[in-house]
Amino acid sequence: MDLRSLTITELRERVARAGEPPFRAEQLFRWLHGPGAGGMGGVRIPHAPSTVPRALRDALLADAPLVPLALDRTVESVDGTRKFRFRTHDDRAVETVLIPDDKQERSKLTLCISCQVGCAWGCAFCATATLGFGRNLTAGEMVEQLYWAMESVGQKPTNIVFMGMGEPLHNLDQVTRALSIIEHPWGAGLSPRRLTVSTAGVVTGLDLLGKVRPLPNLAISLNATTDEVRDRIMPVNRRWNLAALLAAARRFPLGHHRRVTFEYVLFAGVNDSDVDAARLPRLLANIPSKVNLIPWNPVPGLPFERPSEARVLAFQNRVRRADLPVYIRTPRGDDAAAACGQLAARLGETPAGFFDLRITGHVS
Ligand code: SAH
Repeated sequence: MDLRSLTITELRERVARAGEPPFRAEQLFRWLHGPGAGGMGGVRIPHAPSTVPRALRDALLADAPLVPLALDRTVESVDGTRKFRFRTHDDRAVETVLIPDDKQERSKLTLCISCQVGCAWGCAFCATATLGFGRNLTAGEMVEQLYWAMESVGQKPTNIVFMGMGEPLHNLDQVTRALSIIEHPWGAGLSPRRLTVSTAGVVTGLDLLGKVRPLPNLAISLNATTDEVRDRIMPVNRRWNLAALLAAARRFPLGHHRRVTFEYVLFAGVNDSDVDAARLPRLLANIPSKVNLIPWNPVPGLPFERPSEARVLAFQNRVRRADLPVYIRTPRGDDAAAACGQLAARLGETPAGFFDLRITGHVS
């Protein structure tokens, strides 16, 4: 395993086994994840300066070498959204999206991290699904997406969402490590309230996520109000149906004043009817919830359509209740194929519309 995928507890164990004093673990963690030697976030090169003695570093790196991501391309959308494409050590492509607040008032900066190469779950409307499953990313590869993004904009994101390529609950061990590293004050130090894990509905993983401390926020990609429709567009529903999924959401140990975010991608003529709008709040009864409506972002070759703006607004109005906030997630970065469900990186391929965009970097 990559040295950067180890939690502070594991680093302490390794330091102890090497017969070194405990404070070396803090130095190591700061070297691997803190600002300093390797740039804004963590070391990227094994020979970067450190307070940790060279011999100890070399011994630990021999067991767990750094496995870096290489920045392959950066594309910036006209709305300021930036998509990074990385190349892994085994030549896989991974994408990460950095989304500045469109209202600019509170300078919110959200980073959308990928946790797998491709995805196994086969959602009919999602570009990542068309890639099939490649492999799990390590926690090191996840935190490095953050460090590259921080270096690129000279700023730490205010929020991180595990909503890029892949299913976080299908790689929960590494996602949990990444969360603990990102939260640690010696690293990026983001509050768990600023971190969100999103799932297509892997119920066994949901119960395990409920045991993680500190708890991140939970988002569930619901996308349908009947099993008949959900079975069709999200094969995961054939394994855990709506009743099983919502029961798991109901028993999820939400913190005080916290809500589960239900993402609901709107497809014209599939799940955007008034009947759906009436059913949705009933399904979420007894779960402190909020709903994010996402008008479908086109993926070439997939047989869906985005509803009209009027239909999206009407749907929102019907779903909204005093105790159920409903937001419309306006597409961000869709000209750069960086919007929800459009991540489908393949190395060597030019993203759709690439030449119309401002290319902010090209490293190979
Ligand atoms: N596998 C996890 C994490 C990915 S999040 C999950 O499903 O939650 C990606 C989000 O984008 C999900 O809410 C998904 O429903 C949504 N999505 C996928 N394809 C989309 C598309 N083409 N347009 C809009 N949203 C899409």
